[in-house]
Amino acid sequence: MTVDTLCVQGGWQPKKGEPRQVPVYASTTFRYETSEQMADLFDLKAPGYFYTRLANPTNDQVAKKIAALEGGVAAILTSSGQAASTFAVLNLCQAGDHVVSSAQIYGGTFNLFAVSLKKLGIDFTFVDPEASPAEIAKAFRPNTKCVFGETVANPSGVVLDIAKFAKAAHKFGVPLIVDNTFPTPVLCRPFEFGADIVTHATTKYMDGHSSQVGGCIVDSGNFDWSKYPERFAGLVAPDESYHGLSYVKSFGKQAYIVKATAHLMRDFGSIPSPFNAFLLNLGLESLHVRIRRHAESALTIAKWLRKQPKVAWVNFAGLPDSPYHKLVKKQFKGTSPCGVMTFGIKGGRAKSIKFMDSLKVIGIVTHVADAWSCVLHPASHTHRQLTDAQLKAAGIPPDLIRFSVGLEDPQDLIADLKQALAKI
Ligand SMILES: *Cc1c(COP(=O)(O)O)cnc(C)c1O
Repeated sequence: MTVDTLCVQGGWQPKKGEPRQVPVYASTTFRYETSEQMADLFDLKAPGYFYTRLANPTNDQVAKKIAALEGGVAAILTSSGQAASTFAVLNLCQAGDHVVSSAQIYGGTFNLFAVSLKKLGIDFTFVDPEASPAEIAKAFRPNTKCVFGETVANPSGVVLDIAKFAKAAHKFGVPLIVDNTFPTPVLCRPFEFGADIVTHATTKYMDGHSSQVGGCIVDSGNFDWSKYPERFAGLVAPDESYHGLSYVKSFGKQAYIVKATAHLMRDFGSIPSPFNAFLLNLGLESLHVRIRRHAESALTIAKWLRKQPKVAWVNFAGLPDSPYHKLVKKQFKGTSPCGVMTFGIKGGRAKSIKFMDSLKVIGIVTHVADAWSCVLHPASHTHRQLTDAQLKAAGIPPDLIRFSVGLEDPQDLIADLKQALAKI
């Protein structure tokens, strides 16, 4: 089945007389007949549900759809994209370990790594995604456990060369984790280029209607943990909190996701509400139709914007003369990798703000990647603590506007941009 069909019919497969839409199992708990049946569940000896903090059938059906979309073997939903990034790393790392990460990642992920996980004793080395394989290789240490990158970075729009990073990771014997939020599996499937684990903020295009905050982790099943039993002892060696069970021995290719469920969800508890999983699934049913429209409209508008004399610059990887054009052609299905672009107004920060305040159809919100078009000014909003010099160092010019192109008629959006440009 193609990705388009899986968006609609992946995951929940109703049998005769069953509801066609995935049911919302609004239940924290599940009933059994004998004490032994329940004991086997606690020991991970038998499959089944017992407490929604660990697993819930609605969530599992939706995770199954996302696993199929990415071409993976298993997936788990989390309560946010942040939780997905946290768990993806904590499932492999503990205090004393080290991670190599692309420097061009979502600001929230950067803080999580550089501040919060660092406080827990996990060290990060950030590398320029444009770095040569030899430069990337220098970032590895004997205690490196994984590599992290973002397919299309939010907000910089930098495109990750997934194959280059996968090669670097595999040469060192560690997996590559890729945040694939912006393209979604409809436009890019990172496993096809060597990534081992994919994360998502399902909050964005997957939901697509700004109705829930959620995340997902998908495992390709391709990384052979048992080849490095010491490096990945958490997956290979006996887990004392489960009577000495080895995830790899007991669950094979499902090991990474079973550990994330049985260990991290059990202890940290970032499970989404089954109702949110239901909302996410509604979004997924039209993802393939929506994301292509987002990407096409963004390209139309980027081409129009760059011709406007008051616009200083436009950065969109879908533009034919983008430095990422070759990589976009190789890695993405279609001309554009997503519907988000950045641009600047001539005259700097003050003019960009005046322009944004003059928009009527396009709203100012702290969100991206949903049906309603929106803009954000990182220098005044997400990155407002930084000075102009610090902004420059972070790759965010003070005039930068992040523009998420929604599903409205692109001609109406162009008319709105036009009247706002006329006001400055
Ligand atoms: C929004 C976002 C996140 C974080 O997701 P939340 O659901 O807001 O926690 C992570 N990565 C990317 C690329 C994002 O855009």
